[in-house]
Amino acid sequence: MSSASDDDKRLHAATRLVRMGRAKDLTGPFVNPPVIHASTVLFDSVDAMLDRRQRYVYGRRGTPTSDALEQAVAAFEDAAGAVLCPSGLSAVTTALLACLSTGDRILMVDTVYGPVRHFADTVLKRLGVATTYYDPAIGAGIASLFDERTTAVFLEAPGSLTFEMQDVPAIAAVARERGATVLMDNTWATPLFFKPLAFGVDLSIQAGTKYIGGHSDVNLGTVAAGPRLWPKLKEYHGTVGLCAAPDDIYLGLRGLRTLAVRLERQMQSALQVARWLAARQEVARVLYPALETDPGHALWKRDMSGASGLFGFVLAGWSEERAKRLIDSLSLFGIGASWGGFESLAILARPKAYRTAVPYEAEGPLVRLHIGLEEPADLIADLDAAFARAAEVGD
Ligand SMILES: *Cc1c(COP(=O)(O)O)cnc(C)c1O
Repeated sequence: MSSASDDDKRLHAATRLVRMGRAKDLTGPFVNPPVIHASTVLFDSVDAMLDRRQRYVYGRRGTPTSDALEQAVAAFEDAAGAVLCPSGLSAVTTALLACLSTGDRILMVDTVYGPVRHFADTVLKRLGVATTYYDPAIGAGIASLFDERTTAVFLEAPGSLTFEMQDVPAIAAVARERGATVLMDNTWATPLFFKPLAFGVDLSIQAGTKYIGGHSDVNLGTVAAGPRLWPKLKEYHGTVGLCAAPDDIYLGLRGLRTLAVRLERQMQSALQVARWLAARQEVARVLYPALETDPGHALWKRDMSGASGLFGFVLAGWSEERAKRLIDSLSLFGIGASWGGFESLAILARPKAYRTAVPYEAEGPLVRLHIGLEEPADLIADLDAAFARAAEVGD
């Protein structure tokens, strides 16, 4: 069961996020659904079991807990249905394997999340699926990359680490004309700011680890499908035996309720920090499509209704050692992978090794920031002090 029966599309996103996945048949009289830990589900008789005469038959195949989050995600995405996976990466690999077969070719954006590139270059290759990486700026020009084997196109916008926007509707239109499946990793914008299925995408993927969870305490993934791909996705997900753990699903549901307020705030704070950085003479460029100066700004403005708190900045002519000193000097930013939680993070990003279609060139080292729920003035003061400390030792 993955329909959003309790959802009303006429309501605003913030209202829908509070209500989705809370159908009475799942929650009973309570606000939230129970966290059901289950493998075995009992039947009243042998015949009842043989006929599978009840809604729940086995833990892996669904519980009221998993139904609640699946229904919520399906509603959030305006999808025919959604499945849950134990991580964001497993959600991407699930979506890919649900639609690819030996002999196929997939067109994959060059700025895709690194571990997805690794999956394509190893597992997909071993299974006889060829991958062609393309320039994120390709737009309708992607038509020239299609051959008779091409059955799928994968998008991620903005791109991992470097934040290039993509013309999603133009690429999706070309792919659909040729009968190819369109997949998109929409972890950055979330369906709050961009609904991929409304732009011609067939399978919309989120690392629920990031903004759905929102508290850096869970790994979770979701794949939502339009009517065309939903039966195929549901069948594949059940066949390979994927399921997410009940406590993790509950954390996902809990995070979802506050996603709109967190993201609105994180966008405002990120814009403040990004504008402050853009004005620093040490900074060559800020990579954030929500900024008017970003090359992807026009596409972002056309298609997305907001931006999340993740962006990058390039240091003008700095050595990598000095960039490391800058990050090490921060006290309010943690140093660590992942993002989407309530806390700010900073990493040194090295995209060069993950680009083959378009070589990555920059004026200096790249720092990626995730802006959390702290007061932006405190974050700016922390960055200001770190710039001063990084400058103390010249190199
Ligand atoms: C983090 C991330 C993933 C993977 O999520 P995990 O839960 O860490 O496996 C996938 N795609 C994008 C864009 C991500 O940022």
